[in-house]
Amino acid sequence: MRFCTAVNCMDGRVQLPVIKYLQEHFGVEYVDMITEPGPNAMLAAGCEAAGVDSILARMRISVEKHRSVGIAVVGHYDCAGNPVSQEDQTKHTLAAVENVKQRFPELPVIGLWVGEDWQVSKIVG
Ligand SMILES: [Zn+2]
Repeated sequence: MRFCTAVNCMDGRVQLPVIKYLQEHFGVEYVDMITEPGPNAMLAAGCEAAGVDSILARMRISVEKHRSVGIAVVGHYDCAGNPVSQEDQTKHTLAAVENVKQRFPELPVIGLWVGEDWQVSKIVG
């Protein structure tokens, strides 16, 4: 069994698109899904921000127990948890990816954007 890890929004509209994209991108059967409202903003705010410890603890389980082969941080259109422009969300996702790379330097870390058409595109990594 081959796993990857997604730090995704809790929004139901972005679950299946992100799973399908990551199955293809990382060549995995399973995507361990860690969800929060607007997690790109949470991780961009730094490791001391509220809720980040919980995200990192869940990422460690995926990486250590499931031998995850890669990590994705996701932002999306019309996000209720991070209701800022696409441009600002991109900044958050880029900062979040840098933060996650420092924690998990052995793994590829990518940043994704899910647009108004619910198509997934890679913005970094
Ligand atoms: Zn959202």
